[in-house]
Amino acid sequence: MIRTFADLDLDPNILQAIEEAGFDRPTHIQAQAIPEALDGKDVLASAPTGTGKTAAFVLPALQYLQDFPRRNPGPARILILTPTRELAIQVAEQAKLLATHTRLNIFTITGGVQYQEHADILAQTQDIVVATPGRLMEYIEAERFDCRAIEWLILDEADRMLDMGFAPTVDRLSGECRWRKQTLLFSATLEGKGVEGFTADLLNNPAKVDAEPPRRERKKITQWYHRADTLTHKNDLLKKILTEQSERAIVFVKTRERLAALRAVLESEQIECAWIQGEMPQDRRNNAIARFRDGTVNVLLATDVAARGIDIPDISHVINYDLPRTADVFVHRIGRTARAGKKGIAISLVEAHDQPMMDRIQRYLKEEVKERFIDGLRAKHKKPIFKKKKKVKTSAAKDKTKKQGKKQRKNKGKR
Ligand code: ADP
Ligand code: MG
Repeated sequence: MIRTFADLDLDPNILQAIEEAGFDRPTHIQAQAIPEALDGKDVLASAPTGTGKTAAFVLPALQYLQDFPRRNPGPARILILTPTRELAIQVAEQAKLLATHTRLNIFTITGGVQYQEHADILAQTQDIVVATPGRLMEYIEAERFDCRAIEWLILDEADRMLDMGFAPTVDRLSGECRWRKQTLLFSATLEGKGVEGFTADLLNNPAKVDAEPPRRERKKITQWYHRADTLTHKNDLLKKILTEQSERAIVFVKTRERLAALRAVLESEQIECAWIQGEMPQDRRNNAIARFRDGTVNVLLATDVAARGIDIPDISHVINYDLPRTADVFVHRIGRTARAGKKGIAISLVEAHDQPMMDRIQRYLKEEVKERFIDGLRAKHKKPIFKKKKKVKTSAAKDKTKKQGKKQRKNKGKR
């Protein structure tokens, strides 16, 4: 039974970095996946977002490289594939952090970066390369990247890679890495179309690790909403929340136009923020995220498109300035807070016309989200009530169905 990091067969220099990173003990997925990977097995792992999957593959990879040190300089030995550039950067950052006390070289190869920059990287000795599939494939085709030395192939967020249409590219990359010893595949879910076939082709008799996290690792998101009469009212609510309640917040906005308008409002109030939106040059996106990550600013404005694939730790608040178009996007948004067992808060700002969506979201979450008020900023309009049309029933019939429902529930509990 693995309870502490010391229970894992990791070298002292890695344990020291873990301690410095502030990780007290392995998460469920880490405790299960790391021993299998160190045992030389392929690993097929799934665990919800925010449960520490990155370290679950980075730590055994670092240990492996130390157990079997390279004799000569040369190309990469471990290849980590991620669906997006941001994620690649983040995984590399986490790997660098955990490799602080080693001499291992870790690089990223992603789109949106000048070829020259990569040329410099490719000329050096690399131990771990974190890459997005598209750009890496280009280099392989141009014979600028050599997969023959790859010993471990790791796929992060495999479900999202499939969603984004990377399956053929990943298959080809897998072929390029055919001399590898081990393959590790991590995913938030293993359900969904195509995942099974995809994993079957890539992995060889894998150890399956399905880590439904224990209660302490489950998300603790406290939610509420404020009603707003007008856009100005919404802005006032947001200002209040940002200045008096939140520490680090992501604010989701529906469109680029609205994001620009909101930015102007916040700037005029001296609330500093960074922002990301679709079709933004890569370096500016990276820059914005870096400023938010390192705490230069504590507010990040984002559209849903831009926020895809970004994973920023330690967000205290997710604020839905606009509600999304669908309830599952809402779940993705609020999942960005309360990572790795921390508490998080999600606040939605709801105008009268948003009320049906807010109701739908609650049905989808199977959870009631309560309204809260801020002094002096109460909504003046009456809360609209949208009722679903129901078949008219006599009160006797209603009573009957109620009772039956109860009975069924009772029986269910009994088994
Ligand atoms: P996932 O990939 O499962 O969504 P991440 O690997 O991004 O999750 O980890 C989420 C956050 O939890 C990160 O900020 C990471 O640094 C932190 N974390 C990872 N492992 C631990 C641990 N054992 N203890 C505390 N925090 C951890
Ligand atoms: Mg992850």
